[in-house]
Amino acid sequence: MPVKKRVFLGALLTGIFIISGLGILLWYFTFKEPGKFTQSLFFIIGLLLFLGVALTLGGVMGIVFSLLTGKSYSFLRLPSQFIIAHLLPLVIRLGKIFRITKERVELSFIEVNNALIKSQVRKNIKPEEILILAPHCLQNSECTHRITTDVNNCRRCGRCRIADLLELRDEYGVKIAVVTGGTLARRVVSKYRPRAIVAIACERDLSSGIQDVHPLPALGVVNIRPEGPCFNTQVNPALVRENLEFFLAMDKT
Ligand code: SF4
Repeated sequence: MPVKKRVFLGALLTGIFIISGLGILLWYFTFKEPGKFTQSLFFIIGLLLFLGVALTLGGVMGIVFSLLTGKSYSFLRLPSQFIIAHLLPLVIRLGKIFRITKERVELSFIEVNNALIKSQVRKNIKPEEILILAPHCLQNSECTHRITTDVNNCRRCGRCRIADLLELRDEYGVKIAVVTGGTLARRVVSKYRPRAIVAIACERDLSSGIQDVHPLPALGVVNIRPEGPCFNTQVNPALVRENLEFFLAMDKT
């Protein structure tokens, strides 16, 4: 398993060990503490921690098996989805303890999410049900065309990657939207109601977006930032194409 995916899963397993230890400690006090109220309280908290650990462990197993075999295991799908939908903030906090940057954890999370989708999602989605969601920072900063209101306002001059994304849209017949942030992205998703998304953004926006739209499958493509964040960013169109072809069942996997 590539190193990047191990960052997220490793931090998650460490969290499981820490929380298990806490649960065991609480149960130890349950039997040691004579007070009835405290005893029940410790027992309930210990039980909740145990259930959380069992669910997370099942999810980690589901993710690891899927990553190793490229197949989906239906009985482990629910716990795996629980991890994608809810546990990133916890893993980011754990990462801080071990001096792993938030960006590295998020990148690892995106890779885990992409690999999981590629093992679980039923392919053959119609082109018009797929949405390319691109950030406004891809647009050349000197361009005056209002592509967030209508992406067709782009003149395809080639000064930025919006032109390449429009070529992909036309080639495959998918939908595309350029958004200025999370609020607009959510509005676009509820307007188009896609069955699958190929999202382009920085690690932070991608990881929060993936959680926002979950369980809708969203494959993330991290942008390139040669001039710093949120300014004249770039994207590799080949990666966008690869992800579109996965949803359209045109890839070779
Ligand atoms: S490709 Fe489109 S969005 Fe980019 S600079 Fe040219 S006209 Fe503007």
